Amino acid sequence: MNNRYDVVVVGAGPAGSTSARFAAQSGASVLLLEKDREIGIPVRCAEGVGEKGLKTVVDIRPHWIKQKIVGVIFHSPSGKVVKVQSKEIGYVLDRKIFDYELAQIAAEQGAHVATKANVLGLLKKERVCGVVVDFLGERKEIAADIVIGADGIESRVGRWAGIKTHVALYDIETCAQVTAMNIPLESDYCHFFFGKEIAPGGYLWVFPKGNGLANVGLGISGEFSKTKPAIRYLEEFLSTHFPAVAVLTTVAGGVTCAPPLKTIVEDGLLLVGDAAHQTNPVSGGGIVNAMVAAKIAGRIAGQAIKENNVSKKRLMEYPRLWDDAEGKKLGIFYKLKKFIYDMTDNDLEKTADLLLGMPMEKRTLVNIFKSAVVKQPSLIIDILKVFT
Ligand SMILES: Cc1cc2nc3c(=O)[nH]c(=O)nc-3n(C[C@H](O)[C@H](O)[C@H](O)COP(=O)(O)OP(=O)(O)OC[C@H]3O[C@@H](n4cnc5c(N)ncnc54)[C@H](O)[C@@H]3O)c2cc1C
Repeated sequence: MNNRYDVVVVGAGPAGSTSARFAAQSGASVLLLEKDREIGIPVRCAEGVGEKGLKTVVDIRPHWIKQKIVGVIFHSPSGKVVKVQSKEIGYVLDRKIFDYELAQIAAEQGAHVATKANVLGLLKKERVCGVVVDFLGERKEIAADIVIGADGIESRVGRWAGIKTHVALYDIETCAQVTAMNIPLESDYCHFFFGKEIAPGGYLWVFPKGNGLANVGLGISGEFSKTKPAIRYLEEFLSTHFPAVAVLTTVAGGVTCAPPLKTIVEDGLLLVGDAAHQTNPVSGGGIVNAMVAAKIAGRIAGQAIKENNVSKKRLMEYPRLWDDAEGKKLGIFYKLKKFIYDMTDNDLEKTADLLLGMPMEKRTLVNIFKSAVVKQPSLIIDILKVFT
C-alpha cells in the first residue's frame, strides 16, 4: 500500500469494486479498501438481479448465477397466487463469488486492493484529501485527490464529509433472511408474500438458488421492528409455511428505502451505491443501481484526475449523468412506495383479484402497479414514467 493515490475507494461491495475498476481503467492510480477480511463475505442479500441492467456494467460470468428466473409469483395475505411471466430474465447470484470477482476485475485494471483495511476517517484541508485507515492493526494516512465512499448501508464517509445522510426510521427496512434447503416452491420464479401479519410495511421474499435451496427473507419498516423484530416474523412464517426446511445460514441487515440523497458530491468526494441511497425504494434492490452509478462515478473520477480538477463543480457531472440514467426514477419510486406502504390487506386482496382476472400476457409490471394504485389514479402517470 502506497501513501498516496489519485483515487481511494472505501468499501469493496459492488459499488466500490465497480468504481475502482472504471477509475483505474481511466488511468488513475486507485486503492480499494475493505474492512472485512475477505471480499464477498458475509452476504447480507437475497442476491436477485435483472439481466438487462447488469449487462450494461459487466460481462456476466455463468458461474456467478445460481438460478435463472423467468417470472415472479405474488402471494396475497389470504393465499391467492398470482403468477407473472417476466419479459426480462432475472438471476439469483452467488454474491460470495460475484463480489469477490468484481474486486478481481478492478485489480486486473490496475487497482490496488486491501482487505482488513477499516477506514476510520477522512483527511481534510480545504477539501477531502485522503483517508485514515486501520490496516492489519496499523493506523495509516493515505493521501488522495478523490475519495469515493462506497461503504454501504452503514456508510460514514458522507457524514464525515459533512453531508446530511440521516434516514427516518420509516424509510429503513430492517431485514432478516435465512438460506434454507427443502423449499417446496417453483424454482425458476421469485416469490413475494404480502400482508400485515407476514411483513408489515414491507414484504417477504423467496429467491431460489437451485436444488431446493433458497434465500427466504423479509423486510419490515423500522417503525414496526420496534415492537417485534424482523427475525420473529420470519420464524413465524417458516414454521407455518415451510416447517420442514433446514436452515443453513441466518443474517440480519438493513435497506434504505428513502428518497435519493440530495448531495452525493463534494470537493474531492463522491458517494455511490447504498452510501448514496441509490436502492430502489419499492423493491429494496440496490446491486445493479450501485454498479450503474459506480461506473459513472469511476469514469468521472478518472477524467477529473486527468484534467487536474477535482472540484465539486467538475465532479457534479456524476449526479447529472446518474439522474439521467436511473436517479430521477428513484424519486418516483419513493412516491409509489409510500402508497404501497399504506395498502391494507383488503387492498392487496383486491389487487390480486384484478390481476387474476387478467390473462397472463397482460400481467406486465405496468399493469401490476396500475392495479395496485386504482385508489389513486394520479399515480398512473408516474408509473408510466418509470416503466416506459
Ligand atoms: C437482506 C437484504 C436483501 C437484499 N436483497 C437484494 C436483492 O435481492 N437484490 C438487490 O439488488 N439488492 C438487494 N439488497 C440490497 C443490496 O445488498 C445493496 O443495495 C448492495 O449490496 C449495495 O452495494 P454497495 O456496494 O453500495 O454496498 P455493500 O454491498 O454493502 O458494500 C459496502 C462495503 O463497504 C465495506 N465497508 C463499510 N464501511 C467500511 C469502512 N469504514 N472501511 C472499509 N470498508 C467498509 C463493507 O464491509 C462492505 O463490504 C438486499 C439487502 C439486504 C440487507
